[in-house]
This record gives sequence, structure tokens and C-alpha cells, in this order.
Amino acid sequence: MHFTYCPDCGTKTVLRRMGDDGDVPYCERCGKPLFDMFSTCVLSVLMNSRGEIALIKQSYGQQETYVGVAGYMKCGETAEEAALREISEEIGLKAERAQFLFSAWHAAKGQLMLCFCAETDCTDFTLSQEVREAVWFAPEDAAKAVRPGSIIERLVLTASGKKTTSKL
Ligand SMILES: [Zn+2]
Repeated sequence: MHFTYCPDCGTKTVLRRMGDDGDVPYCERCGKPLFDMFSTCVLSVLMNSRGEIALIKQSYGQQETYVGVAGYMKCGETAEEAALREISEEIGLKAERAQFLFSAWHAAKGQLMLCFCAETDCTDFTLSQEVREAVWFAPEDAAKAVRPGSIIERLVLTASGKKTTSKL
């Protein structure tokens, strides 16, 4: 989000030179810079003790390929907590040890994706209404079940210990 108006007082912003940051929208009335804002999301692959990877299809839209469990972060929680919470909410599994692997900019959505691999000992899904289907895949099958060149493909490959060739 680029601030044309100040969210606090409604004054139109002006561009002000802010050192190394260059020209930044600035509210002259509040006397503060308003840096561009964006959403931060967590994206996870979940791995069980057999090394299988859980992927889902969402209820909305027509999806050819599988995706990871993803969601927006809530104010006050860590990214690790958000990753585990989303897994619990969407597929009803208690996961632990959410390990941060990498971050990626999702250009189409204008979001920063924080990508995790989480582990679980449970295997029985309890799906939320947002999720149509959840499946355990062998790692090599998981990599083929997602959209080529996507962030989730890179995450599956990274989590299963393979080198990825695509640059995101
Ligand atoms: Zn203001």
C-alpha cells in the first residue's frame, strides 16, 4: 500500500527525501514518513515422520494444482506461531518445530511470503471449510503436484532437501 493520504489525519502526503530511502510519502501535518506497507503471509509445507508432505486444495476457485497451507499473520504473533496456527486451523493437525526456510516476494499479490517446513506425528486431517482436499505426498510426487516455478514448488524442493533451479 502506497500512502497518497495520511491514514491518521487524511492530509495528502508529499514526497520527502529520506536519506538512503530516497523519496518517501510524508505527512507534513503529523510530521512523519509513511513508508509503503504490505501484508506478510506464512506459507508452510507439513512433513510427517515418514517424510511425506501434506498439500491442499482450497475450497474457492478452480485449482489444477496443490498448494501449501498459507495465511496472514496476526498482530502480536511470531511467524512460527502463525505457521503452526494456520496448519491447525486449515487441516486440523497439531504440528511442531516450524522451521523458517526462506522468504519470497509474491509479486502478483504484493505480499511477502515467509516459508516454513513444519513437522507432525499426526496424519489424520480435519479440514476447515476453506479446504476442499488435503493429501500426503511422497516428496517427489509433491514437487510434481504444485505449479511449476511457484513459491510452493521452491518450498517443497527446499524442504525435501533438493536444490531448486528456479529463481524466485
Ligand atoms: Zn497526518
